[in-house]
Amino acid sequence: MTARLIDGKSFAEGLRIRIGTHVERLKRDHGITPGLAVVIIGHDPASQVYVTNKARQTLEVGMHSEKYELAETVPEAEVLALIEKLNADPKIHGILVQMPVPKHIDANRIIATIAPHKDVDCFTPESVGRLTIGLPGPVSCTPLGCLMLLRDTLGSLSGKHAIVIGRSNLVGKPMAQLLLRDDCTVTMAHSRTTNLPELVGMADIVVAAVGRPSMIRGEWIKPGATVIDVGINRVPAPDKGEGKTRLVGDVEFAGAVERAGAITPVPGGVGPMTIACLLANTVTTASLIHGLVPPSDLTP
Ligand code: NDP
Repeated sequence: MTARLIDGKSFAEGLRIRIGTHVERLKRDHGITPGLAVVIIGHDPASQVYVTNKARQTLEVGMHSEKYELAETVPEAEVLALIEKLNADPKIHGILVQMPVPKHIDANRIIATIAPHKDVDCFTPESVGRLTIGLPGPVSCTPLGCLMLLRDTLGSLSGKHAIVIGRSNLVGKPMAQLLLRDDCTVTMAHSRTTNLPELVGMADIVVAAVGRPSMIRGEWIKPGATVIDVGINRVPAPDKGEGKTRLVGDVEFAGAVERAGAITPVPGGVGPMTIACLLANTVTTASLIHGLVPPSDLTP
């Protein structure tokens, strides 16, 4: 069997078009322009690229975008004051502080200061609690993207056995919650799991979010399973030339593609979904702030 490739890039393009339509409707029918503020501290090149892409895509779907670039040495109190200002700003419906932040700044204090109803990354304890008990609100961006791809591939997920490998607050834990909400039977694996090959072999759905290149071997995958590879790992690619690299996922793609029913490639699978889901969350929070029901195709 050769698996069907799950094309996250084109799904994300379609999602952004739908988001643009919802933004247009909010403007036309309610006079609301969803606004996203992105805060970046320091000059980490990877973070700069992410933030530039986020700001560009925000504008492309017709939203209001604000970008705050703070010096590496900015005092924590100044960052907190900026977040408080954005919390109170009616033009802003989503606040994102690009992680990681410099060492002298307490990331937990930053997150705790973001108003939960503007927490489009779903980092605050209140947002995580709402996600867990199924109340409306923002949903962790990468897991939301994975869920959308899974539903698009499989239709109903009810009764499927899913394994989530990785238990981070960013990906693994919220992913498991979303799968549970869709009536999957969920196994969570992590670095202390002893029988990973056996557990993966029982799963209809495999979500890998570890950060270790090709660690999930193709021969572990149950024939016909759906594989969502969240991992993004840069590895040497001597075949491309000296010093060259390429991106690979956490799943050994060449082996898995021969057994799975469907699989996300890396790059071009989950990656493009994350920013699109950030924009979806901003439409959700803008709707909720104004007492409107968020569009059902943008929330779980
Ligand atoms: P973390 O480092 O926060 O978490 C990694 C998880 O993997 C931990 O729970 C860890 O277990 C588990 N783990 C480590 N080694 C093993 C092992 N041998 N067997 C089973 N589990 C193991 O990573 P993130 O969740 O933030 O990210 C995971 C990957 O996803 C990374 O490659 C990251 O770049 C990528 N990513 C991609 C995104 C996208 O947009 N596509 C967005 C976010 C992340 P333990 O808890 O026991 O230590």
